[in-house]
Amino acid sequence: MIRSLRLQPEAAGLGMTSQRVRDRLIERLREAGIVDEDVLNVMRVLPRHLFIDEALASRAYEDNALPIGHGQTISQPWVVARMTEAVLRHDDPRKVLEIGTGSGYQAAILAALGLEVYTVERIGDLLRQARKRFRQLGLSLRSKHDDGRIGWPEHGPYDAILITAAAPALVDALIDQLAPGGRLIAPVGSAGEQTLVQLVHAADGGIEQTALAPVVFVPLLAGTLD
Ligand code: SAH
Repeated sequence: MIRSLRLQPEAAGLGMTSQRVRDRLIERLREAGIVDEDVLNVMRVLPRHLFIDEALASRAYEDNALPIGHGQTISQPWVVARMTEAVLRHDDPRKVLEIGTGSGYQAAILAALGLEVYTVERIGDLLRQARKRFRQLGLSLRSKHDDGRIGWPEHGPYDAILITAAAPALVDALIDQLAPGGRLIAPVGSAGEQTLVQLVHAADGGIEQTALAPVVFVPLLAGTLD
Protein backbone atom coordinates (compact mmCIF):
# COMPACT_ATOMS: atom_id res chain seq x y z
CA MET A 1 0.00 0.00 0.00
CA ILE A 2 1.41 3.36 -0.95
CA ARG A 3 -1.48 5.55 0.06
CA SER A 4 0.30 7.58 2.69
CA LEU A 5 -0.22 11.30 2.54
CA ARG A 6 3.06 12.89 1.46
CA LEU A 7 1.91 16.47 1.89
CA GLN A 8 4.13 18.65 4.06
CA PRO A 9 2.17 19.44 7.24
CA GLU A 10 2.58 23.21 6.89
CA ALA A 11 0.97 23.07 3.42
CA ALA A 12 -2.33 22.03 4.98
CA GLY A 13 -2.55 25.28 6.87
CA LEU A 14 -1.72 27.61 3.99
CA GLY A 15 -4.20 30.35 3.26
CA MET A 16 -7.17 31.71 5.09
CA THR A 17 -9.98 29.38 4.14
CA SER A 18 -11.38 27.73 7.25
CA GLN A 19 -11.27 24.00 7.85
CA ARG A 20 -15.01 24.10 8.42
CA VAL A 21 -15.65 25.21 4.83
CA ARG A 22 -13.36 22.46 3.53
CA ASP A 23 -15.03 19.84 5.72
CA ARG A 24 -18.40 20.81 4.28
CA LEU A 25 -17.12 20.02 0.78
CA ILE A 26 -15.98 16.60 1.99
CA GLU A 27 -19.46 15.92 3.40
CA ARG A 28 -20.97 16.89 0.04
CA LEU A 29 -18.64 14.51 -1.77
CA ARG A 30 -19.64 11.73 0.61
CA GLU A 31 -23.34 12.46 -0.01
CA ALA A 32 -22.62 12.36 -3.75
CA GLY A 33 -21.27 8.81 -3.48
CA ILE A 34 -17.53 9.17 -2.94
CA VAL A 35 -16.55 6.39 -0.52
CA ASP A 36 -12.75 6.03 -0.64
CA GLU A 37 -11.45 7.44 2.66
CA ASP A 38 -7.99 8.10 1.21
CA VAL A 39 -9.55 10.26 -1.51
CA LEU A 40 -11.74 12.13 0.97
CA ASN A 41 -8.80 12.62 3.29
CA VAL A 42 -6.43 14.03 0.68
CA MET A 43 -9.14 16.36 -0.59
CA ARG A 44 -9.76 17.58 2.94
CA VAL A 45 -6.08 18.41 3.40
CA LEU A 46 -4.92 19.73 0.02
CA PRO A 47 -5.84 23.44 -0.29
CA ARG A 48 -7.83 23.81 -3.55
CA HIS A 49 -7.89 27.61 -3.21
CA LEU A 50 -4.16 27.70 -4.01
CA PHE A 51 -4.95 26.38 -7.49
CA ILE A 52 -7.19 29.25 -8.56
CA ASP A 53 -7.00 33.01 -8.81
CA GLU A 54 -7.26 34.84 -5.48
CA ALA A 55 -10.39 36.65 -6.69
CA LEU A 56 -12.20 33.28 -6.82
CA ALA A 57 -10.66 31.80 -3.67
CA SER A 58 -13.85 32.19 -1.65
CA ARG A 59 -15.54 29.74 -4.04
CA ALA A 60 -12.76 27.15 -3.97
CA TYR A 61 -14.65 24.73 -1.71
CA GLU A 62 -17.90 24.73 -3.67
CA ASP A 63 -18.42 21.61 -5.76
CA ASN A 64 -18.01 23.44 -9.08
CA ALA A 65 -15.53 23.80 -11.92
CA LEU A 66 -14.00 27.32 -11.92
CA PRO A 67 -12.16 29.34 -14.59
CA ILE A 68 -8.33 29.32 -14.51
CA GLY A 69 -7.68 31.52 -17.56
CA HIS A 70 -7.04 30.72 -21.25
CA GLY A 71 -10.64 29.49 -21.47
CA GLN A 72 -9.81 26.50 -19.24
CA THR A 73 -11.23 25.30 -15.91
CA ILE A 74 -10.14 23.52 -12.75
CA SER A 75 -12.29 20.38 -12.63
CA GLN A 76 -15.24 20.04 -10.29
CA PRO A 77 -14.13 18.43 -6.97
CA TRP A 78 -16.59 15.55 -7.39
CA VAL A 79 -15.06 14.71 -10.78
CA VAL A 80 -11.53 14.83 -9.34
CA ALA A 81 -12.66 12.57 -6.50
CA ARG A 82 -14.34 10.11 -8.88
CA MET A 83 -11.31 9.90 -11.19
CA THR A 84 -8.94 9.48 -8.25
CA GLU A 85 -11.14 6.71 -6.80
CA ALA A 86 -10.95 4.92 -10.14
CA VAL A 87 -7.12 5.08 -10.01
CA LEU A 88 -7.03 3.70 -6.46
CA ARG A 89 -9.23 0.74 -7.43
CA HIS A 90 -6.20 -0.62 -9.27
CA ASP A 91 -4.57 -3.40 -7.12
CA ASP A 92 -1.31 -1.55 -6.64
CA PRO A 93 -1.20 1.75 -8.52
CA ARG A 94 2.24 3.36 -8.73
CA LYS A 95 2.79 5.28 -11.92
CA VAL A 96 0.13 7.65 -13.26
CA LEU A 97 0.03 9.86 -16.35
CA GLU A 98 -2.32 12.84 -16.55
CA ILE A 99 -3.11 14.64 -19.79
CA GLY A 100 -4.26 18.22 -19.13
CA THR A 101 -2.41 19.60 -16.07
CA GLY A 102 -4.49 22.81 -16.05
CA SER A 103 -4.31 24.26 -12.53
CA GLY A 104 -2.35 21.23 -11.31
CA TYR A 105 -5.00 20.27 -8.74
CA GLN A 106 -5.74 16.74 -9.98
CA ALA A 107 -2.02 16.01 -10.40
CA ALA A 108 -1.29 17.34 -6.90
CA ILE A 109 -4.00 15.10 -5.39
CA LEU A 110 -2.40 12.05 -7.02
CA ALA A 111 1.11 13.06 -5.93
CA ALA A 112 -0.04 13.73 -2.36
CA LEU A 113 -1.36 10.14 -2.30
CA GLY A 114 2.20 8.95 -2.90
CA LEU A 115 1.79 8.08 -6.58
CA GLU A 116 4.55 8.73 -9.14
CA VAL A 117 2.88 11.36 -11.30
CA TYR A 118 3.63 12.50 -14.85
CA THR A 119 1.48 15.30 -16.26
CA VAL A 120 1.32 16.99 -19.67
CA GLU A 121 -0.18 20.39 -20.53
CA ARG A 122 -0.42 22.12 -23.93
CA ILE A 123 -0.65 25.72 -22.57
CA GLY A 124 2.77 26.86 -21.32
CA ASP A 125 1.45 29.61 -19.08
CA LEU A 126 -0.85 27.24 -17.16
CA LEU A 127 1.94 24.72 -16.76
CA ARG A 128 4.31 27.34 -15.33
CA GLN A 129 1.72 28.34 -12.73
CA ALA A 130 0.99 24.71 -11.85
CA ARG A 131 4.71 23.98 -11.37
CA LYS A 132 4.96 26.91 -8.95
CA ARG A 133 2.11 25.42 -6.90
CA PHE A 134 3.74 21.98 -6.81
CA ARG A 135 6.94 23.57 -5.47
CA GLN A 136 5.03 25.63 -2.91
CA LEU A 137 3.35 22.47 -1.60
CA GLY A 138 6.57 20.47 -1.59
CA LEU A 139 5.16 17.95 -4.07
CA SER A 140 7.51 16.37 -6.58
CA LEU A 141 6.08 15.23 -9.90
CA ARG A 142 7.21 15.32 -13.51
CA SER A 143 5.56 17.61 -16.04
CA LYS A 144 6.06 18.62 -19.66
CA HIS A 145 4.74 21.19 -22.11
CA ASP A 146 3.43 19.22 -25.08
CA ASP A 147 0.40 17.97 -26.95
CA GLY A 148 -0.61 15.19 -24.55
CA ARG A 149 -2.38 13.16 -27.24
CA ILE A 150 0.97 11.47 -27.84
CA GLY A 151 1.24 10.63 -24.13
CA TRP A 152 4.69 10.31 -22.57
CA PRO A 153 5.97 6.96 -23.84
CA GLU A 154 9.52 7.37 -22.43
CA HIS A 155 8.21 6.88 -18.87
CA GLY A 156 5.46 4.35 -19.58
CA PRO A 157 3.80 2.02 -19.23
CA TYR A 158 1.45 3.50 -16.64
CA ASP A 159 -0.87 1.85 -14.12
CA ALA A 160 -3.37 4.63 -14.78
CA ILE A 161 -3.80 7.38 -17.35
CA LEU A 162 -6.23 10.24 -16.67
CA ILE A 163 -7.31 12.53 -19.47
CA THR A 164 -8.87 15.69 -18.07
CA ALA A 165 -10.13 17.10 -21.38
CA ALA A 166 -12.76 15.54 -23.63
CA ALA A 167 -12.31 13.97 -27.08
CA PRO A 168 -14.88 12.32 -29.36
CA ALA A 169 -13.08 8.99 -28.91
CA LEU A 170 -10.33 7.42 -26.77
CA VAL A 171 -6.84 8.04 -28.15
CA ASP A 172 -5.08 4.81 -29.24
CA ALA A 173 -1.57 6.13 -28.50
CA LEU A 174 -2.60 6.52 -24.87
CA ILE A 175 -4.23 3.08 -24.59
CA ASP A 176 -0.90 1.65 -25.83
CA GLN A 177 0.91 3.23 -22.85
CA LEU A 178 -1.14 1.29 -20.25
CA ALA A 179 0.60 -1.44 -18.27
CA PRO A 180 -1.16 -4.84 -18.00
CA GLY A 181 -3.96 -4.32 -15.49
CA GLY A 182 -3.76 -0.57 -16.13
CA ARG A 183 -6.73 1.73 -16.55
CA LEU A 184 -7.50 4.77 -18.66
CA ILE A 185 -10.07 7.19 -17.27
CA ALA A 186 -11.29 9.86 -19.65
CA PRO A 187 -14.28 11.97 -20.67
CA VAL A 188 -15.51 10.92 -24.11
CA GLY A 189 -18.03 12.71 -26.32
CA SER A 190 -18.80 16.10 -27.78
CA ALA A 191 -19.84 19.25 -25.90
CA GLY A 192 -23.03 18.72 -23.91
CA GLU A 193 -22.94 14.93 -24.07
CA GLN A 194 -19.81 13.61 -22.46
CA THR A 195 -19.40 10.44 -20.44
CA LEU A 196 -16.58 9.61 -18.06
CA VAL A 197 -15.29 6.28 -19.34
CA GLN A 198 -12.99 3.75 -17.72
CA LEU A 199 -11.05 1.35 -19.90
CA VAL A 200 -9.25 -1.48 -18.09
CA HIS A 201 -6.45 -3.26 -19.92
CA ALA A 202 -6.71 -6.66 -18.19
CA ALA A 203 -3.54 -8.64 -17.49
CA ASP A 204 -4.79 -11.37 -19.90
CA GLY A 205 -4.86 -8.84 -22.75
CA GLY A 206 -8.61 -8.25 -22.74
CA ILE A 207 -10.06 -4.76 -22.69
CA GLU A 208 -13.09 -3.86 -20.63
CA GLN A 209 -14.83 -0.52 -20.92
CA THR A 210 -17.38 0.93 -18.48
CA ALA A 211 -19.24 4.24 -18.29
CA LEU A 212 -18.79 5.94 -14.90
CA ALA A 213 -20.87 9.14 -15.09
CA PRO A 214 -22.09 11.98 -17.28
CA VAL A 215 -19.56 14.85 -17.08
CA VAL A 216 -18.64 18.27 -18.51
CA PHE A 217 -15.03 18.90 -19.59
CA VAL A 218 -13.22 21.38 -21.84
CA PRO A 219 -12.11 19.87 -25.18
CA LEU A 220 -8.83 18.02 -25.82
CA LEU A 221 -7.11 20.19 -28.43
CA ALA A 222 -4.21 19.70 -30.84
CA GLY A 223 -0.83 21.44 -30.71
CA THR A 224 0.73 23.67 -28.04
CA LEU A 225 0.48 27.33 -26.97
CA ASP A 226 2.99 29.43 -25.02
N1 SAH B 1 -6.66 18.51 -14.47
C1 SAH B 1 -6.93 19.92 -14.55
C2 SAH B 1 -8.12 20.21 -15.44
C3 SAH B 1 -7.79 21.30 -16.38
S1 SAH B 1 -8.89 21.53 -17.74
C4 SAH B 1 -7.09 20.52 -13.18
O1 SAH B 1 -7.11 19.76 -12.19
O2 SAH B 1 -7.14 21.75 -13.06
C5 SAH B 1 -8.11 20.62 -19.01
C6 SAH B 1 -6.71 21.02 -19.41
O3 SAH B 1 -6.35 20.20 -20.52
C7 SAH B 1 -6.56 22.46 -19.90
O4 SAH B 1 -5.57 23.11 -19.15
C8 SAH B 1 -6.15 22.31 -21.36
O5 SAH B 1 -5.22 23.29 -21.81
C9 SAH B 1 -5.51 20.93 -21.36
N2 SAH B 1 -5.45 20.28 -22.66
C10 SAH B 1 -6.37 20.25 -23.66
N3 SAH B 1 -5.93 19.54 -24.71
C11 SAH B 1 -4.68 19.10 -24.37
C12 SAH B 1 -3.70 18.31 -25.03
N4 SAH B 1 -3.88 17.83 -26.27
N5 SAH B 1 -2.55 18.04 -24.38
C13 SAH B 1 -2.31 18.51 -23.13
N6 SAH B 1 -3.20 19.26 -22.45
C14 SAH B 1 -4.37 19.55 -23.06
